[in-house]
Amino acid sequence: MSREQVRIALVLPDLLGTYGDRGNVIVLAQRLAWRGIGSETVTVLSSAEAVPESCDLYVIGGGEDVAQVAAVRFLHRGPGLRRAVERGAPVLGICGGLQVLGISFVTGDGVRHDGLGLVDAVTEPGSGRAIGEVTTRSTVGGVGLLTGFENHLGRTRVGPDSQPLGRVVRGIGNGHDDAEGVVRGHVVCTYLHGPVLARNPKLADLLLEWAIGEPLEPLPDPPELSALRAERTRVHARNRK
Ligand code: GLN
Repeated sequence: MSREQVRIALVLPDLLGTYGDRGNVIVLAQRLAWRGIGSETVTVLSSAEAVPESCDLYVIGGGEDVAQVAAVRFLHRGPGLRRAVERGAPVLGICGGLQVLGISFVTGDGVRHDGLGLVDAVTEPGSGRAIGEVTTRSTVGGVGLLTGFENHLGRTRVGPDSQPLGRVVRGIGNGHDDAEGVVRGHVVCTYLHGPVLARNPKLADLLLEWAIGEPLEPLPDPPELSALRAERTRVHARNRK
């Protein structure tokens, strides 16, 4: 890829765009711009022919069960995403996106659907929706503590071919083994909305470094992030009393 123009694919925001996860693409583009690196956002709608193979980074958001099934059908139309993953392009999948990129998921009506199998994860409905703030501790790529907001019915088991993105400090996450999210190679999936990259810039930079293939100079945290962290710390302290 050219470092001058990073191509970021926003995949199926018309199907998996319920939770504002498109904000992750805005964060990626802005963090590049702050470093004087240009980017182009390639929006792939469900009316497109297929996902292009040529992008440097792919972002897939969350949505409802029915939309997930339609998304899998669309993503199977061409080899673009799979080939991009094979050459090491990073992919960020959020919530419904996580389930779609996994091996299979069972929708609320009890039907099992095959996913893309890009991560080793199997999802089944839980006994109730997991809704609320989540904090996890990640060992992937030195990103450390991650925070976000979860809202999902599915509970996900990570298989031996992948690893969790983090361990839950508070919240529910995958709902098995204190795990949150799933990672295989440069495919990073999480239940964290927020959007997750606005709340966790280190994760944004990790994906960008994988996309560009070289380290990026660090940026100071935006003031909103310190304010959010302070607010979360206060809420956690209050809840502990
Ligand atoms: N439909 C999925 C679930 O409820 C994913 C929801 C989401 O993307 N937030 O488990």
